[in-house]
Amino acid sequence: MKIVLLGPPGAGKGTLAGSLKDKLNFIHISTGDILREEMKNNTHLGQEAKSYIEKGELVPDELVTRLIENKLLSNGLIGKDIMFDGFPRTQNQAEDLDRILSEKNMCVDYALYLKASLSVIIKRLTGRRVCRNCGALYHIINMPPKKDGICDKCSGELYQRADDNEETIKNRMDVYNQSTAPILEFYEKQNKLKVLNADEGAAEVLKAALGILNG
Ligand code: AMP
Repeated sequence: MKIVLLGPPGAGKGTLAGSLKDKLNFIHISTGDILREEMKNNTHLGQEAKSYIEKGELVPDELVTRLIENKLLSNGLIGKDIMFDGFPRTQNQAEDLDRILSEKNMCVDYALYLKASLSVIIKRLTGRRVCRNCGALYHIINMPPKKDGICDKCSGELYQRADDNEETIKNRMDVYNQSTAPILEFYEKQNKLKVLNADEGAAEVLKAALGILNG
């Protein structure tokens, strides 16, 4: 099964993906995580992506699609159950994903849309903390770690993403509304769109998602 997780930044895609991965044994592919790893390792791709990410803009389609295509084909992942988190983010990327999958007689099965209101999004993003080591997600109020600043899972250091500041969040929201929101219609036309109320807590969202995927 192939699932794409859609929704504005801060809707909880990464949190849901982490829980689904544990429950259903899906492979979690997050383009944001891959790009941040490339930036950390200071690769050519990371250097190219950095300027876009820091401003809250989208990395060019061509670059991201190539990244996904390589990941799916070179590691033999394409036949597995996969959750795409943060990809596709544009109509071009959605069409490219369909093309890559259809060349192997596969398709996207569901697009889960995490629908969240702006006030919830801002609170989530400004309070988000990420483990530098394993990528686990926390929130200083909603989902705090047991020990301040330390990951429960691997004892790694927690940090705040550079793009989780109010200025960049505003730009990411504008970019989402302009470039990403229109692809909801792309999946709706294919009868694959499922809407989840992402203003609810992580446990409720997970329950609703499992209802759809196990249904
Ligand atoms: P995320 O971790 O999903 O919030 O992504 C962080 C940033 O990485 C985004 O604000 C974009 O700059 C970039 N990014 C991640 N995924 C994509 C994508 N599919 N297309 C273009 N840019 C992306």
